Amino acid sequence: MILIDGKKAAAELRDKLKHEVTGLKAKYNKVPGLTVILIGDLTPSQIYVRNKEKSANEVGLKSEVIKYPDSVEEKTVLEKIEELNKDETVSGILVQLPLPKHIDKQKVIETILPSKDVDGFHPINVGNLSSGYESSVPCTPLGCYLLIKKVEPNLNGKKAVIVGRSNLNGKPMSQLLLKENCTVTVTHSKTKDLKAECLEADIIVAAVGIPELVKGDWVKKDTIVIDVGINKTDKGIVGDVDFDEVSKNAKALTPVPGGVGPMTIACLLKNTIECFKRSQI
Ligand code: NAP
Repeated sequence: MILIDGKKAAAELRDKLKHEVTGLKAKYNKVPGLTVILIGDLTPSQIYVRNKEKSANEVGLKSEVIKYPDSVEEKTVLEKIEELNKDETVSGILVQLPLPKHIDKQKVIETILPSKDVDGFHPINVGNLSSGYESSVPCTPLGCYLLIKKVEPNLNGKKAVIVGRSNLNGKPMSQLLLKENCTVTVTHSKTKDLKAECLEADIIVAAVGIPELVKGDWVKKDTIVIDVGINKTDKGIVGDVDFDEVSKNAKALTPVPGGVGPMTIACLLKNTIECFKRSQI
């Protein structure tokens, strides 16, 4: 079984991006800039944002974090986004989710210029992705896609089963694999026989949030299994895939942690650089 090393793949991608930033700096005499807005003091969000900033600095991006307390008014955040939209030194804007209840997430997402939407959540980018046009692609599914392509460069005609249909993961994942000529099935909580669906798959991407949902006998030999889940349990952090069981059957599998997670941040940097390049045309 191939253990898909997300940490190594992310380090390789960051290295490639670092070289790219050096080239862009030489060509344009400026570097891509990423601005993250962090609202409140949720520990996981703070950790993510710190890691994003560290990685952005590592590859040579200009990085900035704007922090607001939980009590910040929605209007203040929207005005700041408008200001960043106009700022030419800012290539990408990310508002760390989740947001406090009094702030409308969709309004925030739609205020970010689609051309600076490094998360790929703006409806214009969602539409572009599903129409097969160039767009920012949500970072986690993009990371999954790059990991799958490392194991199997030619996905033509492969049967992919996505477990979970969230806007963040499942839906964009299905679009990316459809674009690669996979036959894609998207499953969800009302799917009748998930095991039977998974048994048909050459590729399984599990993005559910249920610890170890995907079992060993749900997976054919030669299936590539990507585990997006991050679940806190008594035995520590586990994914949506039963690692011990599935690793005995699958052709390739991502571990949790150390699989998809590191690729998510690397893809955020990639998206920021892509936004910068498109803005220079
Ligand atoms: P989400 O928005 O809660 O969506 C979960 C999806 O799973 C929904 O579509 C839901 O179906 C489906 N589902 C629930 N129970 C199911 C079942 N028994 N069988 C089949 N499908 C079922 O979750 P998310 O934001 O996509 O996140 C999923 C997991 O990924 C979480 O563990 C999260 O922490 C993790 N995550 C990891 C990263 C990373 O960087 N590695 C990034 C983001 C998220 P319905 O639509 O029918 O409700």
